[in-house]
Parts: sequence; structure tokens; C-alpha cells
Amino acid sequence: MSSLLPGALAFAGTILYAKYGALSSTFLPSRVVPVKTVDGKKHVIFVLGGPGAGKGTVCSRLCPSGDGDGDGDCRKGRGGLTVRSTHAFFSAGDLLRAERKRDSPCARVINDAISSGSFVPASITLGLIKSAFEGSGAGVFLLDGFPRNEDNVGAWEEGVGGGVVVDLVLFLECPEETMLGRIMDRGRTSGRNDDTLEVARKRFENFRRETMPIVNKYEKEGKVVRVRSDRPVDRVYDEVEEIVVKNMERVILA
Ligand code: UDP
Ligand code: MG
Repeated sequence: MSSLLPGALAFAGTILYAKYGALSSTFLPSRVVPVKTVDGKKHVIFVLGGPGAGKGTVCSRLCPSGDGDGDGDCRKGRGGLTVRSTHAFFSAGDLLRAERKRDSPCARVINDAISSGSFVPASITLGLIKSAFEGSGAGVFLLDGFPRNEDNVGAWEEGVGGGVVVDLVLFLECPEETMLGRIMDRGRTSGRNDDTLEVARKRFENFRRETMPIVNKYEKEGKVVRVRSDRPVDRVYDEVEEIVVKNMERVILA
């Protein structure tokens, strides 16, 4: 009887969601029902790209109900992504910004790094990512903006290792001047203290120097899928969706 309960709750949650899509995800029991994967492990897709490459835009479209800093679970979407909590989306930047807002001992360290366009120590970022993953029943995580440097990769390998399988690195390729234009546009309304010309320059520099070698490392392992993101959002999205759905079909048990 008790073994039937999680399934029944998940089903009820799906129905409730279909009917009242706006219900807060905290009321949806499907969050605590782990989705089964082919190897019984959680999987991740790292979504990388320069600042303003469109990582957050494309991920939130794949996961319209996951906002990157909450439970992240994605229960509705287009083209095949409609199943309950098969995947969840977390943005490392959003997790850090949410932590900065709390009265947390790390808030100052986080703000200093973000506002100067450098990177937050990996122990902090990974800690937030791990708790986000642990609170989700999804089978595949889309992780936007991590790992960004060697320090991040080392922390991931040590703290997570084979516990979560890295399926792919989705790399959004975009010329720097396009990304800069987007950041300047976004800066008018984002309220982000790093969306300024001066900090953006620093972020690009760090991206070239620290993140690109990470992308190259994963490329050598055959994990990188490149998508050009200097195109209309719909076209970028369609291409990304196909890649993610294909991966999901491979990894998630029906
Ligand atoms: N950040 C970090 N480590 C991460 C992700 C983000 O230190 O793994 C910090 C870094 O300072 C970065 C900022 O958070 O510049 C904003 O990251 P976000 O991914 O939100 O920026 P985007 O690339 O989307 O513009
Ligand atoms: Mg972003």
C-alpha cells in the first residue's frame, strides 16, 4: 500500500498541474518522486557559453516552471518535455544571487566576486548546486553556467564525481560583440550589478581565459555539442530542444 502512495501522489500532482498550471510547485507532490533513469543515476547537461550567450533564455524555455533558484523542476514545456519532473533546471548564477540575498555568511564573498566579474569559490557554488539537486526528483538536470573554471571542475569531480553522470556540455557559441550588446540591453532592466560595460569586459576576459579551456577539455572527451546562439531565439531553442529531448529519451525510463 505504502509503495503505491508516491506514484498515486505523483499522478495526482500531474493532473492538478494540468488543470491548475499556476499552482505553486511546492504543492506538487511529484517533486519528491524520483524519476527512474537507465542506470539508476542522476544525469546532468552542463549549459555553457559566454556572458549573454543565451543560456538562461534557452534553459528557462525548456523549463517554463523552473526559475533556476527554486526547486527547478520542469513540469510543462513544448515538444516532448511535458512529463512530470523528468528534468529540472538550475542556474548557478541564480542560485548564487538567491544566496546573496539571504542573510548568509557567504553573501559578501558572492557579491564581491559577481560585482567584479570574477568567480565565486567553487565550494560555495557546488554546495548550492548539490542541495538544489538533492531537493529534486528529476532524472536529468540542466545546469546553466557551471563549471566555469578548473576550480569548479575539480570541486565537481571531488564532490559529485560519478554520482551524477555528465551527459553533455551544451555550448552556446556567440560572437562577443553580440553578447556585449545583449548584456548592455539587459542591463537597462535587469538590476544586475554585473551588467555594466566595465564588469562585462572582465567577465569576457575570464570567460576566454578560464571557461574556454574547460569547454576544450570536455570537447576532447567528446561531450560538447555546439549550438550557434547569435540567431533568433526560436531557432536556437528548436535546436537545443531536439538535443535535450534526444538525451532525455536515452536516459529516462518511460
Ligand atoms: N558565477 C560563479 N560561478 C558559477 C556561476 C556564476 O562565480 O558557477 C558568478 C560569476 O561571477 C558570474 C556571475 O555569477 O559572472 C553571473 O553568472 P550568470 O551565469 O548568471 O551570468 P550570465 O553568464 O548568464 O550572464
Ligand atoms: Mg544567465
